[in-house]
Amino acid sequence: MEEHINKREAYQRMNYLYQAAHCVLAQNPENVELARFYCLTQKTISRRLVIRQDPSVKRTICKRCSSLLIPGVTATTRQRKKNRRTRFTVQRCLSCGQSKSLLNNPDYTLWIDRPEAQLEMQPDQGCSGVKWQKKKKPQPAGSKKEKQKQKEQERQEEEQQKKLQEEKQELQRKTQQEEEEKKKQKQ
Ligand SMILES: [Zn+2]
Repeated sequence: MEEHINKREAYQRMNYLYQAAHCVLAQNPENVELARFYCLTQKTISRRLVIRQDPSVKRTICKRCSSLLIPGVTATTRQRKKNRRTRFTVQRCLSCGQSKSLLNNPDYTLWIDRPEAQLEMQPDQGCSGVKWQKKKKPQPAGSKKEKQKQKEQERQEEEQQKKLQEEKQELQRKTQQEEEEKKKQKQ
């Protein structure tokens, strides 16, 4: 519970710092250092408490020197072409020269927001028929039968894999023998 409250306060503080950085830069564009200090503090909080920052926030802070990137004030933005279809927006920090390029794609979804990312977290049990809701259900604690079944399945799978490996090894041996015989015949 305490941690929950801590995180909420941290979010509020980070929000305040981010807004303060914007405010300070808007008042005087030469306040780069102050804005950088605010953003650095914000970044430190997020790192210490392992809080994920929203991508829209993260993209406006320089990765190297933590200064707030505002196009035309502390950063330059350019459009770069990779080929016909893919274009990037390249933001370059004016204080340290670090640049970040973002793909121009309004439909782009982050990896965490994609369904595949969720699938990967699931235990390996024939994912084809499994739906998302199944993940949330806690497994009944006293179901020994199910555990036994799982163990048996695992054992069977291991045995199958062993057999496959053995077959492969035999095949390799056979092919090696054949090759050697061919060599001998040639000699
Ligand atoms: Zn920078």
